[in-house]
Amino acid sequence: MTQGESGIDYADYSWGPWRGCRKIAAGCLHCYAERDMKRYGRDHSKLERASDATFYAPLARDRQGNFKWPPGSRVFVCPWSDFFLEDVPRGWRDEAQAVIRTRRDLIFIIPTKRLDQIESWHGEPNTILLTSCATQADVDRETPKLIEISRDYFPVKGLSIEPLIEPLIDPIRIGVTAIGELDWVVIGCESGPERRTCKLAWILDVIRQCKAAGIPCYVKQIPLPKLSQRGRHSAMIEAITSQSVLDWDLACKDHDWTVSRDPSEWPIVLRVRQFPKPRKEHARR
Ligand code: SF4
Repeated sequence: MTQGESGIDYADYSWGPWRGCRKIAAGCLHCYAERDMKRYGRDHSKLERASDATFYAPLARDRQGNFKWPPGSRVFVCPWSDFFLEDVPRGWRDEAQAVIRTRRDLIFIIPTKRLDQIESWHGEPNTILLTSCATQADVDRETPKLIEISRDYFPVKGLSIEPLIEPLIDPIRIGVTAIGELDWVVIGCESGPERRTCKLAWILDVIRQCKAAGIPCYVKQIPLPKLSQRGRHSAMIEAITSQSVLDWDLACKDHDWTVSRDPSEWPIVLRVRQFPKPRKEHARR
């Protein structure tokens, strides 16, 4: 992955110390990393360590000796792989950890579908650990594991519900019973030519449940009716009721929709972009 602006709205930079992965869940079906790597003529199934310039990108300095990535920036980790991929040599992760530890002034966001692999690796206080879920079964299976992971090592933990491909009955059930255990929920539809259906009503439901449980929520991208349809539905931009959202869903039938990452194009109720608050113990370190 090239370094620099992340292209991921909730992060300032992307950092890919290695690339290549293996599909393990329903959410992987149309893996965007695979698609991107194909475009660059790379084999997504082959694990490769990045060049040193990329591996140590968070430590790069400018001519004045200042870090190129300014303090306080959010860094998305492993956009073309999974940080906890089984095949990654332990030494690589240890080196990456040293980078994370050196840049305690950055916030490293680590999404993973492999919580089972974390046992042997202790995180750092400047990390946000997200477990990636696409279905209710993913949420039911992964959330308890996430909560069990020591808060000493991962003080901020949440769900990355991307791509959302089915309605979630109760996505934060565990968070509600163990209130305060989840710190963040990121949610979004699938992108790409083969994107699977995602309903705004499903996203709205997650937003409401987060609000009820006091969990910050970040809506990353939503389905949007194509331009020809959008004129007819322009009134929905100002929509504030769930009924309007249902109308919008009707306008996105089949594949006659595109993906929007621009909240100014969305119904107001969906313009939710909150970030996790640092925990007290996190702030002390
Ligand atoms: S875990 Fe992530 S990078 Fe790996 S195949 Fe699945 S979607 Fe792609």
